[in-house]
Amino acid sequence: MITAKIAAYTLPVLPYPADALEPVISEETLTNHHGKHFAAYVNNLNKLIPGSEYEGLLVEEIVQQAADGPIYNNAGQVMNHRLYFEQFVPVSQYKAPGRRLLNAINYTFGSMEIFKKQMVDAAMNVFGSGWVWLAVDTEGRMQIVKEAGGGNPWRRGLTPLLGIDCWEHSWYLDYAFDKAAHYNGLWEVMNWEVVENRLPL
Ligand code: MN
Repeated sequence: MITAKIAAYTLPVLPYPADALEPVISEETLTNHHGKHFAAYVNNLNKLIPGSEYEGLLVEEIVQQAADGPIYNNAGQVMNHRLYFEQFVPVSQYKAPGRRLLNAINYTFGSMEIFKKQMVDAAMNVFGSGWVWLAVDTEGRMQIVKEAGGGNPWRRGLTPLLGIDCWEHSWYLDYAFDKAAHYNGLWEVMNWEVVENRLPL
């Protein structure tokens, strides 16, 4: 059920200062990624949606309903980047994962370390631009999902819990040819509380 009519899509304010994720993500990368790339997806969506059959829909509804093409691509990237930037925390405020999330990860993957390795391996194996997601199905089963372009497993009925952006704009400026260092560093700024709160009840 649609509970809100969306007049325009907006760029969320970062929940931390732009330099708060250094040295894992530099201020320059964060500023460009949020203020240029993410902003462009929001602006594109605001140009594409008026007059279309998706007018007034939530981004999540567009991702579920839109045919492949520019509207789907930009809605997907808006949803993806909302989830992405919300899921980090400054190194100084890092907290270990909570019991509910940890139990679910241990049950599925064996340990947190195995889970992290499988996520990074999947990210390293995304060919070209895409994403890797930790997602959960309606039965509560966790899985790691690779997506091309602006894909999100939400389109297929899975709930995304944690996303790794594998587009070059997320890491190239800071890490050049060592994207593994970027992916492995993300664990130091992961806000596990936000990730856990995305688990369906
Ligand atoms: Mn991105």
